[in-house]
Amino acid sequence: MRQYQGISVSPGLVLGQVSLLKRETYLFNRSQHSPEKEELVLEEALRIAKNELDSMAGRSAASEQAIFTFQSMLLEDESFMGEVRSYIQAGTGAAEAMNRVGQRYADKLLAMTDNAYLQLRNVDILDVTQRVVNILAGRPRVLLTLDHPVILVADKLMPSDLFSIPSGMILGIITSEGSTLSHAAIIARARGIPSIIQVGRDFLDDCDGRLVVLDADAGCCILDPDADTRQQTVSRICARQQVEEDALEMPVRSMPCRTRDGAAFELLANCFGPEDIGSALNLGAAGVGLLRSDYQILAGNTFDEQEQFYYYAACIAAAGGKPITVRTFDFGSDRTLSNVYKGDQSAHLGMRGIRSSLRQPRRFENQIRALLRAGAIGPLRIMFPMVTNVADWDDAMSLVNHCRHNLEERGITYKADVPFGIMLSIPAACLTAEDFVRHGCEFFVIGTNDLTQYTHAAGREVTSAERYFQPTSKAMYKLIRMTVDAAEARGIPVSICGLAVGDPANAVQYLHMGLRSFSMGPQNLLSVKKALLEADAAPDRAGPPFE
Ligand code: PEP
Ligand code: MG
Repeated sequence: MRQYQGISVSPGLVLGQVSLLKRETYLFNRSQHSPEKEELVLEEALRIAKNELDSMAGRSAASEQAIFTFQSMLLEDESFMGEVRSYIQAGTGAAEAMNRVGQRYADKLLAMTDNAYLQLRNVDILDVTQRVVNILAGRPRVLLTLDHPVILVADKLMPSDLFSIPSGMILGIITSEGSTLSHAAIIARARGIPSIIQVGRDFLDDCDGRLVVLDADAGCCILDPDADTRQQTVSRICARQQVEEDALEMPVRSMPCRTRDGAAFELLANCFGPEDIGSALNLGAAGVGLLRSDYQILAGNTFDEQEQFYYYAACIAAAGGKPITVRTFDFGSDRTLSNVYKGDQSAHLGMRGIRSSLRQPRRFENQIRALLRAGAIGPLRIMFPMVTNVADWDDAMSLVNHCRHNLEERGITYKADVPFGIMLSIPAACLTAEDFVRHGCEFFVIGTNDLTQYTHAAGREVTSAERYFQPTSKAMYKLIRMTVDAAEARGIPVSICGLAVGDPANAVQYLHMGLRSFSMGPQNLLSVKKALLEADAAPDRAGPPFE
């Protein structure tokens, strides 16, 4: 048993097995390369890397998105990429050229002892460089394949490390180096993962696979704890859980979902995959209102039908009979944050969501077939993001029909009548909501994040335009009201999701706008429920609550 002292960056206490993250060193092929060919493979690798960064940014909290913006920007940086291309022109392979320049820039930043912020960004340069090198070398970006939750140990963590492992698999984090201000520390804190840094290199030498107590409250860890220490730790963990459960206000969790004046409401969770569906249900979610299916396409995973089928089946199993609403992929080449950097602020007005899926029918068909097959296992609904008009809907549904026929021909079990709906995030869709129902749309989900940005022409990540980003404005009221009215008139369900719904005050506003089904991050379920239990639903017909 040996204790190591470090510095706490995110509190908590856990006991678990260590999994040491080893970074492979590369042996570059040093022969003379063809510059033309290497330029081409580099371009393709950069495109993939930017898509991956974008996808991670899409799954991040707003505070984390800047990390991936910075990384994406580097791949657009003329002097950085210019140097890489010079090496290539001189006959160096693309992977080695990228690696050399990345290392040089990272070393330069590391030497900036008078600027702590820039100094720390060296990790981002190494991170994004490694990503491109991995792509060029055909290596997966998933670093560890885990079958049980572990305490992750590394010399230092790169931001994207935490995105390459399902968060439910990380009990805690210990690094031998690192900084309290590092991006990885920010992400760990945001996700509530107990973490300590700077325990020293000795710890790394022989910790892999061994048991450790991580006491991130005290900033220390104990390798190979003896029986007494293990028992004390478990008692302390139980005591903490008891305190946390009390804070969860058990009566709120078990109370029926009814407002003070008796209106029934439904609380659903926004989830990423099987690992957070379970905890959402424990907190009282009646199902998953938004499954961001992009999350399964962790860097390095495939878009293969069978792989996706397993993923959806795992989600259905985790939901234990409660319904899940899966959103088809919501990414597209134009959603890359690098476009924003280039000054192309209208990037968000490009080929995102369903537009991108329709442009890539093979990829979209794989997803739809996997979903139709998963629909035979448990309750599942499918929705399309970023739908603008009924033409989008009709095109998507004709592809769905094609998939049904294809599965029929293959003799594969699937559910033909899985409900299909749309996510309303574009004002044009809200304004014509009834048309979608006429064309067969079976449910609506209002996505407040995007609907707010498109309604007010204020980018989600543009801090300077923040005062225009108003998820409960009068304009939002009108659009939401219109959507709810269309759903009511045609007798289809409607729910609302997005970050704003997790704010209890906003949720009450949405209640007053006529909404009765709310989907939010699992961490907000209880506080929103409490606010809705104490609210009256009646004011919804009294006109706009805000001016
Ligand atoms: C939304 O737009 O409200 C939403 C929940 O989707 P995302 O945040 O994934 O764009
Ligand atoms: Mg959205």
